Amino acid sequence: MFDDQTAPGTAFVTGASGFIAKHVIRQLLDAGWNVRGSLRALAKGEAVRQTMALHVLEPERLAEKLSFVELDLNSDAGWDTAMVGADVLVHTASPFPLEQPKDPQDLVAPAVEGTKRALNAARAAGISRVVLTSSVAAVMFGPGSARGGALTEADWTDPKDPRASAYVQSKTLAERAAWSLAQTEPALELTVINPGFVLGAALDGDTGTSYAVVERLLSGKDPAVPDISFPCVHVEDVAAAHVAALRRPDSIGARFILADRTMTFLDLARELKGQYPDRKIATRMAPRWLLRILAIFDPALKSVLPQLGYHPDLSNAAARNVLGVQFRKGEEALRETAA
Ligand code: NDP
Repeated sequence: MFDDQTAPGTAFVTGASGFIAKHVIRQLLDAGWNVRGSLRALAKGEAVRQTMALHVLEPERLAEKLSFVELDLNSDAGWDTAMVGADVLVHTASPFPLEQPKDPQDLVAPAVEGTKRALNAARAAGISRVVLTSSVAAVMFGPGSARGGALTEADWTDPKDPRASAYVQSKTLAERAAWSLAQTEPALELTVINPGFVLGAALDGDTGTSYAVVERLLSGKDPAVPDISFPCVHVEDVAAAHVAALRRPDSIGARFILADRTMTFLDLARELKGQYPDRKIATRMAPRWLLRILAIFDPALKSVLPQLGYHPDLSNAAARNVLGVQFRKGEEALRETAA
């Protein structure tokens, strides 16, 4: 078990090319860990290394501290040896597209099977300590949403809920699979991080779906915005929570909601309009009938239709109290993304 007294060892990070993962890797390296990252295409390794060289405290030590292996969530190849010699696993890789596939299995299968592959490989390599990146998507769309008041880590999404998109299902079922493995494998010391909509400055130009949402708002493509909400969180707080969890034995067996506050799409749009007054950014709410028509031609819009009018409040008390996260403002994270 790792705690504040243990020297950092080697952290294995899946999905090392990801927007969030690169922040996690940077913070791990700066905290003294060695990092072995997995990529589904090893060719991306050089770009990740160059990004780290621009951001870490000791770029001259990257050659000895950072390495990569090739792994795909959809394939068994390589998993049996990839983690040998590593001390902890941070499993962030999961498909996160803006548009939802026709068949939810396209996302569910890699998320669930990939999580099983990662956790089983960790155990086979003698790793006990695992931090998994789940999402508030695995918290928000269940019976708790009808209760009123803030949702907590005790709330779970029901994958059959009509609001559960393929992505929401994939994150919920992958997290469920991880907890169920932890139950049958008592040596597994699992912590789950459940971030909201992750914003903040990316470390390089290879950004993910979070950026695509903000880009769309900035593009002025839409005449009005849908009535949906995002519990927003700064990417550096998300990375800090992953790194802190590795050091906190009291985080084992728990999940942690990471969100500063819930912002409506209209809040986001108005904030961006304030930042870029000359841009054509929609600051009106779109009526439902219009969205239903537009969604026929727009798969990204279609996937949010069932979530219209849902504005959940989430408690971040556990992350503050156990992981010591001091949440940055959602507005600040948004402004950095836009810039
Ligand atoms: P990115 O799309 O930037 O990162 C996803 C990572 O997963 C990439 O490294 C990607 O590799 C990898 N990946 C996807 N499919 C596969 C596969 N079949 N095999 C191997 N690797 C794969 O997204 P984020 O950084 O935003 O997301 C990281 C994690 O955080 C995900 O688990 C996501 O669900 C979760 N999350 C994200 C939130 C957000 O708002 N951004 C909110 C809550 C949770 P490649 O570069 O090759 O595509």
